Amino acid sequence: MRLRNIPGADEKIQGSGYVIQDPAAMQGQWRSAVFHNDRPLYVEIGSGKGRFLSEMALLHPEIDFLGIEKFSSVLLRAIEKRETLPELLNLYFLRFDAEGIGGIFGEGEIDRIFLNFSDPWPKDRHHKRRLTSREFLSRYLPLLSSNGTIEFKTDNAALFDFSLSEARASGWEVLLETRDLHKSPYAEENVMTEYEQKFSILGNKICKMILAPPKA
Ligand code: SAM
Repeated sequence: MRLRNIPGADEKIQGSGYVIQDPAAMQGQWRSAVFHNDRPLYVEIGSGKGRFLSEMALLHPEIDFLGIEKFSSVLLRAIEKRETLPELLNLYFLRFDAEGIGGIFGEGEIDRIFLNFSDPWPKDRHHKRRLTSREFLSRYLPLLSSNGTIEFKTDNAALFDFSLSEARASGWEVLLETRDLHKSPYAEENVMTEYEQKFSILGNKICKMILAPPKA
């Protein structure tokens, strides 16, 4: 998702108390310096307009959430949504390109990574940019806690197949695989994202996988 450039978006983001302005300074200290507790930390990469994380943060006050979004124009919408929510102490956002994720989290600091409707990058030559490529999986690996997982949802069957084969080729364990989430036993606990709602209304089936890191 890339919205047209919105004048003033960068300034609004820089002035927002809901955005962590210097994430590299928080590496290894998210719990002590940002959330001030010892709760599980869940991170959505490519959090878009923030619908999923906002709902998750309201539903789960016992968990801390961070949304990482690359584009200011998109993050701005998440901040505007955040401003309409009741005061929450468990949800912050970053404007950041996840390619550098290894520079902002410490070893084992994240308990769950959500990848929701990640950009498919359909051209073969761009496969390394996909957030479920083996290159990205290897960036996430050291950052996940011992019971850490990745949850990935998409309506794009080709991207789902690619992601499964990348995960298996790099030794990740597939804990859950469904190609019709909304008709599966996991539908009840599912929180919809913006894209998920848009695509499911069109009749697209939603695929979901949960991955656990390779056993050492
Ligand atoms: N997760 C949301 C949803 O399901 O509705 C948004 C999905 S949208 C297709 C993908 C989002 O990921 C876009 O907002 C895009 O800017 C963001 N994104 C793509 N690559 C990224 C990266 N390397 N780092 C951070 N965000 C990224």
